[in-house]
Amino acid sequence: MTFTQLSAREIAQKVQAGELKASDMLEASLAQIRAVDGDFGSLDGQPTDPETDKKVHAFISLTEELAHAQAQAVEAKVAKGENAGLLAGVPVSIKDIFALENTDTTAASRMLYNYRAPYTATAVQKLIDAGALIVGKVNLDEFTFGSSNESSAYQPTSNNPWNPAYVPGGSSGGSAAAVAAEETPLSLGTDTGGSIRQPAAFCGVVGLKPSYGRVSRYGLIAFASSLDCPGPLARNVEDAALILQVMAGVDERDESSATLPVPNYLEALQQDVRGMRIGLSPDYAGIAYPNHATGEFEVIPVQEEIKQATLDAAEQLARQGAEIIENVPMPHTRYGIPVYFVVSRIEAASNLNRMDGVKYGYTVADARDLQDLYTRTRTEGFGLQPKLRILMGAYLSATSKKVNYYQLASKVRGMIRQDFELAFDPKGAYQLDALLTPTTPTTAFKRAEIFGDSVLMQYADQMTVSVNHAGLPAITVPAGLDKKNLPIGIQFIANHFQEETILRAAYAYEQSTLDAAWRKVRPMA
Ligand code: GLN
Repeated sequence: MTFTQLSAREIAQKVQAGELKASDMLEASLAQIRAVDGDFGSLDGQPTDPETDKKVHAFISLTEELAHAQAQAVEAKVAKGENAGLLAGVPVSIKDIFALENTDTTAASRMLYNYRAPYTATAVQKLIDAGALIVGKVNLDEFTFGSSNESSAYQPTSNNPWNPAYVPGGSSGGSAAAVAAEETPLSLGTDTGGSIRQPAAFCGVVGLKPSYGRVSRYGLIAFASSLDCPGPLARNVEDAALILQVMAGVDERDESSATLPVPNYLEALQQDVRGMRIGLSPDYAGIAYPNHATGEFEVIPVQEEIKQATLDAAEQLARQGAEIIENVPMPHTRYGIPVYFVVSRIEAASNLNRMDGVKYGYTVADARDLQDLYTRTRTEGFGLQPKLRILMGAYLSATSKKVNYYQLASKVRGMIRQDFELAFDPKGAYQLDALLTPTTPTTAFKRAEIFGDSVLMQYADQMTVSVNHAGLPAITVPAGLDKKNLPIGIQFIANHFQEETILRAAYAYEQSTLDAAWRKVRPMA
């Protein structure tokens, strides 16, 4: 086994014990990046042909110098016999949407191509303080707008390490690809509608979206402020628990961060699932897609192999003593995407107002006047997705409209939240501890197959988005491969701040399938 196959937990333990030097671990990670990543995403780059190009292209930039300094700091602590932290010597990649002092922070947009962050995001700082080595920034859909990575202004964007003809998912596609391709054991992503879980599922890794407020959003370039959540991508559940342990907690710089104490997530893994009530819902058996001609919803069933993997997981957990509750109604799930269209576009349009060519980032050089400066900066700086979303957000929130769409969507959002409240109510009819669902309706789609159809692309998030509306925690874990040898993900959802519950359930499932044949198949093989 090479160093890059070690889990984050194993690396940190070995580094602390003096069995592995942080700088050697860093070199191993950088060597793997050099071997498999190929050209990094850049503004002058072009998409590549998957027939001839098998590289991963997860990265936009490396932060080698910083990582070397961090490795030295860890080694100095170890030499003195001090505690070097829970992530001592663990290489971590960061979605390029987080501020990291004195490094380029692009959001994969021309608009921020020259933006060097003057400060560091709290979540990233906590990783550094725990001994992590930040090796670089990874690619994403521009401003996190997308589900395939293809809408990044930085090309080539990431391939799916299982098969370069397929997308890695998005928007944290670079994170998922980097973890699957063993470039870094951990990556930091963000999830507004599914952007951690969907790419994690597509790339066969673990992805955890914490409860809203569990991890600080300070230093994260905002997409939709009422939905955004930073969270980890990892190769196993224990590593996800480990990094969450480091990142979670109140932050005085983020008013919406939760003041609740942080439980011991690693300890929680040791508890089994006996007596845990895990629900299955028919409303997660398909995606409800509105037919524009008839106005009716049509239900397209989830890919058969994903459905089967979800049912198999339920059986597996039942054998371990969990109680499976079938037919839990989640009737408002079908409105998740339409509500998201309204809420996320209006919030995005508002958040992107600051990108005007005056404060930071891209500016046209020869503006005639202020109006010209704004117009041309935004025309040239933004790609298609930000433009579409700003237009839609502005249209939906126009005061001339008779309907207040944001208010209306917020009402329906309340109904979605209520589905979960009823399911998790300790005195209710279902009394669930967790809900088990597919993570995505299909496995990874082919490059260019859906790109260009913003609506269909958005529906890749139907199984994940309701969790963001309700502010709940959810985790996706690998649960097999389909006929095309592409990874399948299943999702556990729990009540507010019950990260321990989903970690326990996911860990129990993972441990019970360690010997499964599909686990022996590896990406990049
Ligand atoms: N795919 C979704 C979108 O395009 C979600 C993105 C996200 O979670 N950041 O908006």
